[in-house]
Amino acid sequence: MSDSTMPTTVRQFIGGRAVDGTSGETFPTVNPATGEVLADVQQASAADVDAAVASSRQAFEEWRELPGAARGRVLMDAARLLRARNDELAALEVADTGKPIAEAIAVDVASGADCLEYYAGVAATLHGQHIDLGGSWGYTRREPLGVCAGIGAWNYPLQIACWKSAPALACGNAMVFKPAELTPLTTAALAGIYAEAGAPAGLFNVVQGDHRVGQALSRHSGIDKVSLTGEAGTGRKVMAQAADTLKHVTLELGGKSPLIVFADAHLGNAVSGALLGNFYTQGEVCSNGTRVFVHGDVKAEFTALLLERVAKMVVGDPTDPNTDVGALISADHLAKVLGYIERGRVEGARVVAGGNRVTTGALGNGYFVQPTVFDDCTDDMTIVREEIFGPVMTLLDFDDEDDVVTRANDTPYGLAAGVFTRDLQRAHRVVRRLDAGTTWINTYNITPIELPFGGVKQSGLGRENGAAAIEHYTRLKSVYVEMGDVEAPY
Ligand code: NDP
Repeated sequence: MSDSTMPTTVRQFIGGRAVDGTSGETFPTVNPATGEVLADVQQASAADVDAAVASSRQAFEEWRELPGAARGRVLMDAARLLRARNDELAALEVADTGKPIAEAIAVDVASGADCLEYYAGVAATLHGQHIDLGGSWGYTRREPLGVCAGIGAWNYPLQIACWKSAPALACGNAMVFKPAELTPLTTAALAGIYAEAGAPAGLFNVVQGDHRVGQALSRHSGIDKVSLTGEAGTGRKVMAQAADTLKHVTLELGGKSPLIVFADAHLGNAVSGALLGNFYTQGEVCSNGTRVFVHGDVKAEFTALLLERVAKMVVGDPTDPNTDVGALISADHLAKVLGYIERGRVEGARVVAGGNRVTTGALGNGYFVQPTVFDDCTDDMTIVREEIFGPVMTLLDFDDEDDVVTRANDTPYGLAAGVFTRDLQRAHRVVRRLDAGTTWINTYNITPIELPFGGVKQSGLGRENGAAAIEHYTRLKSVYVEMGDVEAPY
């Protein structure tokens, strides 16, 4: 990353440009791999939030009048800019999140650009319905909601900002976005890209800061909808905060998802799925399949294959293309993950891989944890029940299909689930019975933009991606057209 792409101060982005916030308060954003301060971030004040909402409202009035195809062209141009700056944005993301550069280069920016391209195409296809009423007739108009707020988590900052803003803007809305305070950098860059692509000033504003900014947005009377990616507890707060003004809400929350490996599964693929579903982005992925249920007949073989591959994983400097596991987001989060590992040991689970912080050489300045596998787990253990959001896999065994489905569903969460089997009928039968919003058969954690993504139960409300997201960024207006005289009984 060149020094020129790393700002020294992260400001608000309101009305098409970076502006100083008015609170006078700043906080540092830190590189979790080195502990070094990357930049100072200005905390937005309530007045800054008001200014951002007012500016987005103005942009909305202009943007909503454009034909969908014209909105799509702006999104397509922004996608092109994202792809052109892939490596530079990936480097910023690595510095801010600690994730390995090999992942950020291949996934983070590209997934955002995929999303913008998808909704650029969708923008021109939005339509209502014609309803024949036998002479008279009706039609529906699909209209934007207005000004939407996006509130992001810190694990995929740019991707989350794209997954929220692309459908919002395609549908004719404007957006005010608050990234997580731990990862402010790439969302600010995205705002610049939208402006460069020709979005009206204020169409995508960014306000920086902590939970106070999220509260101000979700309570704001000028915001019509809020879409949050975060923890289940934050989801409940946001929903309550939005209740006074009866806002639409989309909540993408946490999970403790099951991955079920039947005895007839291709074990090499199942191990790959378990690795992808536990250690990508050092385990900080909401849909991770952290409860790995393996059929008793193949458990020993599966575990041997798994441990062989875990032993080869490289924990290291996230900027090194050979690194597989980067740094956890913060010192607090490191302590939380290590606390869960200790709890697992105390409750009787057996560490069969990893289990420790990594402090070799310069890694001691950052927040690195070994990819960790627990065996001899039981369903009631804390590490099997709670979302850890770190590189910690739990292995459980089963013998019976009905039993494993019941156990897989025995969680307050319902974000995702995976099944590995070569039996076609079993695969579909089991997936149908799993309480999860997003499921995979014979793979894990693949999230193409075309497929809706989201959770059930405590994992969320609403869907992102695919045609489903349109429902969450538009409202329907019904129009009755009378073709005859008006008959009145008086
Ligand atoms: P948090 O819930 O802590 O924070 C999410 C965002 O909400 C942050 O921007 C945060 O601000 C903000 N926030 C905090 N409190 C409030 C409030 N009262 N009102 C409004 N906004 C608020 O989540 P994390 O950032 O720790 O992210 C990890 C969590 O996100 C995990 O549970 C993970 O599973 C989930 N997640 C879900 C995904 C999904 O698509 N389902 C995808 C990725 C992550 P600040 O950070 O500044 O405090």
